[in-house]
Amino acid sequence: MKLEWTVYELTLKHPFTIARGSSASRRVVVVRLEQDGIVGLGEAAPIARYGESVETVEQFLRNLNLNAIQDPFALESILWALDLSVPGNAAAKTAIDLALHDWIGKKVGLPLWKLWGLEPGRALATSFTIGIDRPDVIEQKVHEAEAFPILKIKLGGENDREIMAAVRRATKKPLRVDANEGWKDRQLAVERITWLEQEGVEFIEQPMPAADLAGTAWVRERVNIPLIADENSLRLTDVPKLMGAFDGINIKLMKCTGLREAMRMVNTARACGMKVMIGCMIETSIGITAGAHLTPLLDYVDLDGSMLTTNDPYEGVKFDGGTILLPTEPGLGVRLRG
Ligand code: MG
Repeated sequence: MKLEWTVYELTLKHPFTIARGSSASRRVVVVRLEQDGIVGLGEAAPIARYGESVETVEQFLRNLNLNAIQDPFALESILWALDLSVPGNAAAKTAIDLALHDWIGKKVGLPLWKLWGLEPGRALATSFTIGIDRPDVIEQKVHEAEAFPILKIKLGGENDREIMAAVRRATKKPLRVDANEGWKDRQLAVERITWLEQEGVEFIEQPMPAADLAGTAWVRERVNIPLIADENSLRLTDVPKLMGAFDGINIKLMKCTGLREAMRMVNTARACGMKVMIGCMIETSIGITAGAHLTPLLDYVDLDGSMLTTNDPYEGVKFDGGTILLPTEPGLGVRLRG
C-alpha cells in the first residue's frame, strides 16, 4: 500500500478548557492508504496526556513497514502486528485502523455500519460539550448549542457551582457532566455528584483521578447516577478492571487504537454489565464519522469534536438536531469538503 499524510491545524470556535488545561487550536494528522486505485482515509488526533504529538505520529508513520500490509482485508493480523510493533502511539495506530476500514468498505462498496450488520436508524443523538469558561461565555455557548438536545458540561474545578448556575439560567435540557478527574477528594466527589443529581444530571464522567480507582468505587456506593470511565478506560484490557467502580465506559478511538479494538471494548463492557458511550477528541469529520458508525450499538454519544472547530477540511456524518445521520457511501463515507 502507498501511504501519504497531511498535518492540519484545526481552529477552535472557543478556546477549549477542561479541568487539565486550555487550547485554542489542535493539530491532527490525516493519512491516506492507497492500493488498487482505492484510497482509505484515517486520522490521528494525538493526546498529549498519553505522550503523543503530531511529531510522534509522523515518526510512527515514517517507521511503518507497509510490506506487512499485503492484503488490506487481513485486519486481525495487520493490526495485531502494528500494536505489538511499538508501545503506546494509540492515535497513530488509530489512523491506520481507520484507513484500512475505509479502504475495505470502499473495496466492497458498503458503508461500515452495513458491513457490521447495524441499522443506521438506531444511531442516537450526540451531546454537545460546553467547556469551562466565564459564566457569561457559558450562557452564550449554551445558546449557540440550541440545536442539540443534550449538553455535556465540563466541571471539576473551583467554579462548578457558578458554571452550573450559568447553564441552568440558559437551559432546562438534560445534562451530562465530565469532571476530567477534577475532584481529587472522595468526600468532595460525593457532595458534588449528589448536588448534580438534583440538577437533573444524567451521569458523571470520570469524577476522580484515574489512579484512584478505589476512591471511585467508594464514591459509587454513595451516589445514584451512573459513573462513566474515560481516563480510566483506554484499552480493552482496562474494561474488566472497572467493574464495581464504574457503571460504564467512554470509548475514544484515539485512545484505543481504532475501530477493531473499540468493537471488542463494546462487547467486553456488555459482558461486564456496563453501559457504553463513545467520545472523541478535537478531530476532523474523519475520526468523528468513524466513531459514528459504532453508535447504533451504544447508550450515549458524545461526537461533537468536529463541530467545535471552524475549519474541518472533511465532511461525513451529519447531525440533525444532534441526531446522527450515518453516511450511505462506502467505507467511512467521508470526503474533502468542497
Ligand atoms: Mg471525558
